[in-house]
Amino acid sequence: MPRVGVLALQGDVREHVRVLTDLGADVIAVRRPEELATVDGLVIPGGESSVIDKLARAFGMRHPLREAIADGMPVYGTCAGLILLADRIADGAPGQQTFGGLDVTVRRNAFGSQVDSFEVDLDVPVLGDPPVHAAFIRAPLVEEIGQGVEALATLDDERIVAVRQGALLGTSFHPEVTGDHRFHRLLLDLVDERVRRAGADDTAR
Ligand code: GLN
Repeated sequence: MPRVGVLALQGDVREHVRVLTDLGADVIAVRRPEELATVDGLVIPGGESSVIDKLARAFGMRHPLREAIADGMPVYGTCAGLILLADRIADGAPGQQTFGGLDVTVRRNAFGSQVDSFEVDLDVPVLGDPPVHAAFIRAPLVEEIGQGVEALATLDDERIVAVRQGALLGTSFHPEVTGDHRFHRLLLDLVDERVRRAGADDTAR
């Protein structure tokens, strides 16, 4: 069975572990490069992106994560995780870096202090019915997407809040908090596909 990790440096790690476990995945918390090397896919949770960035550098995880992403490992980032997957950030903390991989510009804390947090029902055509009940918690927005990036969901005013590029998925919101498992299912499908393809390559060799 393919194994997926949840990056466990900071943030809502437990919620993601629970959703992935409910979906029948073999799940581990990933803090070290040796752990990252054993997984076929990864979730980067919500939390505080500048803290996850700092801890990733302190734990020697930045480079291995960038390599895994470049190598095509499926990764799903929620909220702070989306920020960390973005190639470019607006309103980052001083010196804040991202792992990158998604050809997007993401604005941190885009919804201002008044409406830090809110919930809406979002149409996500790739997931079909019903809409996703999405919780936005000091959420980022995707301000710009490159050519290879697909917008998976937008708010009523067309602002983009979910994207996919190859094996990378990112959402501004937290489906793990509202109990929707379909984005995680999508990640597991990408993981299965990649593991199957790697197996076929080995047989061909
Ligand atoms: N505002 C946080 C950040 O900048 C993200 C919030 C979240 O993940 N819920 O990382």
